Amino acid sequence: MPFYNHILGFPRIGINRELKKFQENYWSGTINKLELLSIGKYLRNKHWKQQKEAGIDLLPVGDFAWYDHVLHTSMLLGNIPNRHKNIDGSIDIDTLFRIARGVAPTGNSTTASEMTKWFNTNYHYIVPELNNNCSFEYSWTQLIDEVDEALLLGYKIKPVLLGPISYLWLGKTTEKTFNKLELINRIIPIYQHVILELHKRKIDWVQIDEPILSLDLPNNWADSFKNVYTSLNQGVNILLTTYFGSVEHNFNHILNLPIQGIHIDIVSGNYDLNQINKIIPNDWLLSLGVINGRNIWRADLIHLYRKLIKMINIRPNIYISSSCSLLHCPIDVNLEQHLNQETKNWFSFALQKCHELFLLKTSLNNHDINLLEDWVKPLHSRETSKKVHKKNITERINNIQTNEFKRQHPFSIRSKIQKKYFNLPILPITSIGSLPQTINLRKMRSDFKNSYITFDEYNKGIKKYIKDCIAKQEILDLDVLVHGEPERNDMVEYFGEHLDGFVFTKNGWVQSYGSRCVKPPIIIGDISRNKPITIKWISYAQSLTNKPVKGMLTGPVTILCWSFPREDLSKSKIAMQIALALKDEVLDLENAGINIIQIDEPALREGLPLRKSKWNKYLSWATKSFCLSAASVKDSTQIHTHMCYCEFKDIMNAIIQLDVDVITLEATRSNLKLLKFFRDARYLNEIGPGIYDIHSPNIPTVDSIKKLLKTAIHYISPNRLWVNPDCGLKTRSWKEVEKSLQNMVTATKDIRKLI
Ligand code: GLN
Ligand code: ZN
Repeated sequence: MPFYNHILGFPRIGINRELKKFQENYWSGTINKLELLSIGKYLRNKHWKQQKEAGIDLLPVGDFAWYDHVLHTSMLLGNIPNRHKNIDGSIDIDTLFRIARGVAPTGNSTTASEMTKWFNTNYHYIVPELNNNCSFEYSWTQLIDEVDEALLLGYKIKPVLLGPISYLWLGKTTEKTFNKLELINRIIPIYQHVILELHKRKIDWVQIDEPILSLDLPNNWADSFKNVYTSLNQGVNILLTTYFGSVEHNFNHILNLPIQGIHIDIVSGNYDLNQINKIIPNDWLLSLGVINGRNIWRADLIHLYRKLIKMINIRPNIYISSSCSLLHCPIDVNLEQHLNQETKNWFSFALQKCHELFLLKTSLNNHDINLLEDWVKPLHSRETSKKVHKKNITERINNIQTNEFKRQHPFSIRSKIQKKYFNLPILPITSIGSLPQTINLRKMRSDFKNSYITFDEYNKGIKKYIKDCIAKQEILDLDVLVHGEPERNDMVEYFGEHLDGFVFTKNGWVQSYGSRCVKPPIIIGDISRNKPITIKWISYAQSLTNKPVKGMLTGPVTILCWSFPREDLSKSKIAMQIALALKDEVLDLENAGINIIQIDEPALREGLPLRKSKWNKYLSWATKSFCLSAASVKDSTQIHTHMCYCEFKDIMNAIIQLDVDVITLEATRSNLKLLKFFRDARYLNEIGPGIYDIHSPNIPTVDSIKKLLKTAIHYISPNRLWVNPDCGLKTRSWKEVEKSLQNMVTATKDIRKLI
């Protein structure tokens, strides 16, 4: 039997980010609904055609989404919070945008639904709202419409649905005693209805994604698969689709299901294919996710060929596929004109990945490994390339001494030295780093990048901004100042651009959420710092004031998590390389007289593996890499870190290990409740809980800040408390920021009098 190929999903944003632009134009009223809908159709048709031309056998339908595919599932199921419904109770695309954004061209504005990270990726989905009153009905025909659209074009297709159990798992319920899994019987009829519609259209296979199977599931959730999939087994073959990790630990719940096929991700799951062959029922279709959907490297097809060819006589039914949806990688590397040819040939974006699946399938079916030789040749050049391997960096990593991970003295001693040294008032006031980035500032940066202005002009402009920022902070009477980060477009991109070992794409956009796309840097080789990065700006800021100015860096784990990493070196080693480069920067800052240095690690929690059994290993190297970058400073130098949007309770021990002098946190959304974790974990170092929500345009009142400060003091002794907003201020306007900071200072001064 021959091999076939398919992919689990294609990027939906369009090569020119058309989906982003049209959605934003629709929201602002520049285009109408028909124009918006037509771009959706255009993108779907184009992407199917491209996949077909690249040699994909079975095309996914239903991977397209306005805003987000979990939100599409809520629409399909009619799970619409009352506040988002149209005035007449109907639903349409504006309802969808209201759920996602709180506003749409029609209807009343209200609060949006929450958004959170899709497993351990940087994609964010809209969290379904679930409660006992939820009623469901089939109410959004988009999926079936798209199926008809593709069938009309004559394609062989495979509709894609987010599975009912994963859908409920990803939702949130506000009622404490309510078990959301109870809703399963209410949503099954709608899935059945959709499957029936597919059956009517003579669809062979439906891809039902149950990515939660790679997690540690409570028994009742794992047990629910049997009944659910028994009721969905209604004439269309079900390809139960798993990704982002191995599902072996759940095989006892999977192997007895009445389904017809399974997809496993053999890139992120450490499967033994011999075992798989024996275990997976022989009459099931086995789809092997062999091409990494989450990274941008050209695949070693020869290696894969050797692995797969052994299976050809054993199993009748094998499909090869992307490990997960290609949603997580950019579309076309051939558009990257500025990359040098050697480097470009190491990469493979979504379209190239489709081509890889075609090449691999063809060579397997013809028993001809030679077809693959040209494709893998560039990978050999990489093995010896000087761009990748740098001897001195390997040596430096091998020579790291254990004392480099530890501060000279414990916090109890350091803190006394620092209190004397800085002589700050009780409840010192600071900010997280970035200050408002005006349109002019952004334009100046891009003008400099495009060589429209000279280095001197750029330099002057940045200095002027820094000078203004320092003056404003002095007037506001903050205690520890920042330079405002005007030279940075993005906290990871900036450091990537100034370190050796990274390259950047011009068009390598990946959807992060809704219409927001990011262009992650690519780590191609050993990382080092050739010259100081931030010293010039920070020293300039410090020269303007007698108050301390914080040096501002992005931590090793965050730089790693928000980039495409290389795959020939472990993540822990890459993180150590970044850490060593940052350590040089930290020591240079210290030598330049900067005595407070903040190393941001907002992605520390995000890097946690999906399985709890792997957490300790990750947290151990993640904290070590942070410590390596920070720990070599003098006792009197104060190290800060900042973290946002995370479940702090999962990483409390790691936070203790970081042994920073001050941690600033995003905390307003939980009303500072998270300080309880710090108290209960006996966290003894200093803490700056964010006391105003920078994500909202509302100005916090003096009273509301005072109230929060009192709550903070309830949990943490005022001697160890700092006062600050909960994240960087770059997306806000100066008007909002000045008023908010003013209120923050007034409130703090009032509270100081009470202590
Ligand atoms: N220092 C960064 C800033 O202020 C931190 C941003 C973040 O936490 N994501 O913008
Ligand atoms: Zn933050």
